[in-house]
Amino acid sequence: MSPRPIYLDNHATTPLDESVLAAMLPYFTEHFGNPASNSHVYGWEAESAVKQARQILADAINATPEEIVFTSGATEANNLAVKGIAEAYFQKGRHLITVQTEHNAVLDPCQYLESLGFEVTYLPVQKDGLIDLTELEKAFRPDTILVSVMAANNEIGVLQPIAEIGAMCRDRQILFHTDAAQAIGKVPLDVEAMKIDLMSLTAHKIYGPKGIGALYVRRRNPRVKLAPQQHGGGHERGMRSGTLYVPQIAGFAKAVELAIAEMPSETERLTALRQRLWENLTPLGVIFLNGHPTKRLPGNLNISVEGVDGSALSLGLQPIVAVSSGSACTSAKTAPSHVLTALGRSPELAYASIRFGIGRFNTADDIDKVVNHAIATIRSLRKQASLVG
Ligand SMILES: *Cc1c(COP(=O)(O)O)cnc(C)c1O
Repeated sequence: MSPRPIYLDNHATTPLDESVLAAMLPYFTEHFGNPASNSHVYGWEAESAVKQARQILADAINATPEEIVFTSGATEANNLAVKGIAEAYFQKGRHLITVQTEHNAVLDPCQYLESLGFEVTYLPVQKDGLIDLTELEKAFRPDTILVSVMAANNEIGVLQPIAEIGAMCRDRQILFHTDAAQAIGKVPLDVEAMKIDLMSLTAHKIYGPKGIGALYVRRRNPRVKLAPQQHGGGHERGMRSGTLYVPQIAGFAKAVELAIAEMPSETERLTALRQRLWENLTPLGVIFLNGHPTKRLPGNLNISVEGVDGSALSLGLQPIVAVSSGSACTSAKTAPSHVLTALGRSPELAYASIRFGIGRFNTADDIDKVVNHAIATIRSLRKQASLVG
């Protein structure tokens, strides 16, 4: 069997950390109780694990435990935030503001709300992927109820100026939601300092399990009202019914704890690996960096390669390195990445892009192997293209 390719797709998902798995295992078997069962020790044990996890998550973002609502992940958290606010505040206004480069888990709920009669402004981004705060300023209306801007982009890793956006929203008494699925555990997040009212989180981008996430919902000044999107037994203060998934919750908390503890050293290590990757690829010539050079996630490098076909590039890389294109699918039949086209990239350059997501388990040796293979692949594809072209 040939060796498995080097995994550099850590923005799609990450492997589970061994110590996260160890934290989860007892809750599948021995401590299997339902945290809502309050008449026996099985329930109490589970409830105690959930309580501890809630505290860890709250501490990680400077919130209180009552402000954490567990969900199945960031997709659900985004839906709950965007639709839940629209339903709770429609009598106050029917206008929302978001950004063209958001994840589909924000864009699709916004489009759904448009079909119900809400109005949504989709802010453009500058060439480096950052929003222009004067554009945001111009977009505010008296009937604006929510601004949703992601903390870190999942394709180009760009970090938006969350604290500035939060302050602008709070001044106008407009609620501010941020999708922090890629940001938690990788950059500091503080809901007080950044004036965040709602924040979506997920575990599986930080070496935690899939299928668990959370929505932070502010309860103090202002107290955010939210219309639940899943009704039932009234779990999570009525905001999200359903029996809590205790093993995943224990794993989520462990993953966040680990990522926060390692953040300073990992930031330095991953930034150096990213720099090594970029510098060693530049001899290729005519490759372009997508997104701001420094205001980005430490482990993210996204490039467009001139003179090669996107699907041939993807095919050529695949035996040695697991990466993805800026777009989820490189087939010419589907649209190019909405993020890269929002930066002003041509469809050709958007297709011929590579998103490298360097993670906790990658080494300098991985990077060197990937560089050698990428250079060989791209040179050979360019040669073929010049022969036929
Ligand atoms: C992965 C991701 C999501 C979706 O999260 P799930 O937990 O997989 O539902 C949403 N937003 C961003 C920015 C992401 O990277």
